[in-house]
Amino acid sequence: MSDAATRLCTHCGLCCNGVLFDLVRLQPQDSVQELTRLGMKLRRKKTQPWFPQPCQFLQSCACTIYEHRPTRCRLFECQQLKKLQAGQITEQDAVQMIANVKAKVAEIDSQLPLLAAEAEILSLDERVKAVTENHPRPELEELYQQLKRLLDREFRLLD
Ligand code: SF4
Ligand code: SF4
Repeated sequence: MSDAATRLCTHCGLCCNGVLFDLVRLQPQDSVQELTRLGMKLRRKKTQPWFPQPCQFLQSCACTIYEHRPTRCRLFECQQLKKLQAGQITEQDAVQMIANVKAKVAEIDSQLPLLAAEAEILSLDERVKAVTENHPRPELEELYQQLKRLLDREFRLLD
């Protein structure tokens, strides 16, 4: 990873903090024993172990088990990172995009005051659903849909 890419990720954390994803599934080559030893609280869906996001190992945008992180964490590169590494955008472009996303997340979070304490344990999607499931909030839902479209377009879509 280039210095610019490392700088970007260590100031971002969106793929670990419950904004881009709700969970991470382990792969066959991941060691459940080793990750459990490190303190990872794994859950199981059918037979495939997974862990929820926000990830318990994320601290200030850094992975505290970086050398031992699971396969999916090793392989994932968002579109901003890929474009930066391919020279298609500048570091400043990517930093600005991440700042835009974080501003939108903060705006959505400001409308979820009763779930502020849950931000450490529930993904953004789970928090929005918890509030809107039984009590429609059209403005909040529209804000969230806008964010999801931005994330799909600028972070998630594969080439
Ligand atoms: S979302 Fe992209 S830029 Fe942000 S930490 Fe993940 S890979 Fe890095
Ligand atoms: S294990 Fe590390 S890289 Fe994987 S989701 Fe958690 S903080 Fe992110």
